[in-house]
Amino acid sequence: MIKKKMKKERKHKFIFVVGGVMSGVGKGIASSSIGKILQSKGFVVNPVKVDPYLNVDAGTMNPVEHGEVFVLDSGLETDQDMGNYERFLEMDLGSGDYMTSGMIYKHVIEKERNLGFKGKCVEAIPHVTEEIVKRWRKAADSHSSDISLIEIGGTIGDYQNILFIESARILKIKYPQDVMFIMVSYLPIPGSLGEMKTRPTQNAVRQLNSYGVQPDMIIARGTQSLDSKRKEKIAFACALPVENIISAPDIKSVYDVPLNFEKDKISSVILKTLHMRTKAHNGELEAWKKFVDKRENAKHTLKIAVVGKYFDTGDFMLSDAYVSVIEAVKFSSYWKDARTELTWVNSKDYEVDPKKVQELKNFDGIIVPGGFGESGIEGVIMAIEFARKNKIPYLGLCYGMQLAVIEYCRNVIGWKDAHTAEINPQSTHVVIDIMPEQKKNLEEGKYGASMRLGAYEAMVSLGTVAHKAYKADMVSERHRHRYEVNPKYIDAIEKAGMIFSGKSPNGILMEIAELPVSVHPFFLGTQAHPEFKARPLHPHPLFTAFIEAALKEKKK
Ligand code: GLN
Repeated sequence: MIKKKMKKERKHKFIFVVGGVMSGVGKGIASSSIGKILQSKGFVVNPVKVDPYLNVDAGTMNPVEHGEVFVLDSGLETDQDMGNYERFLEMDLGSGDYMTSGMIYKHVIEKERNLGFKGKCVEAIPHVTEEIVKRWRKAADSHSSDISLIEIGGTIGDYQNILFIESARILKIKYPQDVMFIMVSYLPIPGSLGEMKTRPTQNAVRQLNSYGVQPDMIIARGTQSLDSKRKEKIAFACALPVENIISAPDIKSVYDVPLNFEKDKISSVILKTLHMRTKAHNGELEAWKKFVDKRENAKHTLKIAVVGKYFDTGDFMLSDAYVSVIEAVKFSSYWKDARTELTWVNSKDYEVDPKKVQELKNFDGIIVPGGFGESGIEGVIMAIEFARKNKIPYLGLCYGMQLAVIEYCRNVIGWKDAHTAEINPQSTHVVIDIMPEQKKNLEEGKYGASMRLGAYEAMVSLGTVAHKAYKADMVSERHRHRYEVNPKYIDAIEKAGMIFSGKSPNGILMEIAELPVSVHPFFLGTQAHPEFKARPLHPHPLFTAFIEAALKEKKK
């Protein structure tokens, strides 16, 4: 008998998530939630975010226009959706888990310039698509995952994402049982009609069909639930079983989405489509539910002011520009049984009317988040002075630490013109300065991916507010900045009472600045962005210490 050599079955599965009708309907949250559910069924998942724009990374984009730039441990500057993935899936992602068209094209073109294609004519198909598929596989391998969840940015019908959809189509043709497409679509309810319309979704599916792709599932986003009649209508028009149409109405919080999806039994449809069976029930969703319940049952309330200059474009985008800060505050609050209301305070108002800063008395805590440039900075410094003098808990993030150091040098030490080289390099006291290698980058006009980026370690001194919060001597946090506390002034600043409780392992860079508890209940600034590492089930210790202090002061 001739023994046929059996080809080893490919175990890896791919779920592609695409958007229909319009952007901004929550593909990222839908994908993150699906990932969470699959984790709870015992699978290792790896999320990949595809951004079809030509930027090589998200680092050079204006956050008020495009949302937060989320920094990975590796230092890659990415889209804010990567933050959702890290938070929902409680995992650290790597550079291979994010890709843009710019990144892929740059690589392919450089390869061509180096004769990497051995004289061939280099074309979008197959060379770009092959590179895309190669990267998807590599990302899956790097996490040894069972299922990749690949979110293709943009909307069906966009020109820019076609090559990514084509790459996914090629995979589906090769491995029909291992690849599935989910379309997250939007169902509008026109005010004049008052009823939910399915046509735009049907058209989006047609358009996807014209690329040679049939979705296996449609997630129907809308302000309301999808009724059974419309479910049937979409199912019929798109040639899908009714159970593959998932209703996804607006709900109170994005963290409810995984629990809500499971109500429609989304996981059984996905596993059936991918020819898989639940691996194990590991209680992930139960732990998640505990967190969601915490939020519902919060006993205390807090009012925190977030002071910045960011209001020129209207405040509707702020929640996008500072999403990680907002979420970090939420997580720490919930676990401390509190619900925190954040108020966005425009620091420029204080420059116009200095008396207005008194309004900060009405808050239980003040946060100054990261930022760049001169606009509104004097107003921020006034807010920091107010927090320091009135013993209002203060948390400074990156720029918020640098400006706290400047405020201290000006108003406590008396260096009236103390400043950062970012704004006034001619000042006699440049207490925040640019490091030599950064100076070179700017002189050479190298702005992309050239800041101090990604994870750096810091030594934390025993007996400080930071150490009490972290409960560790060495911590790692993500960075994204060019300027640092000027080593020249460290001794003088410390002598004047400010403590640098976190320093780089070589002792040169100041990572955390704080005031002792004997003079202030909580006054701490960090050069890093701890908000990038806050997770729902693992809130960030610095945010938690800040919230704790705010609660304690409020009770007084
Ligand atoms: N503008 C400051 C710097 O470049 C702070 C940056 C930030 O807050 N992310 O150092």
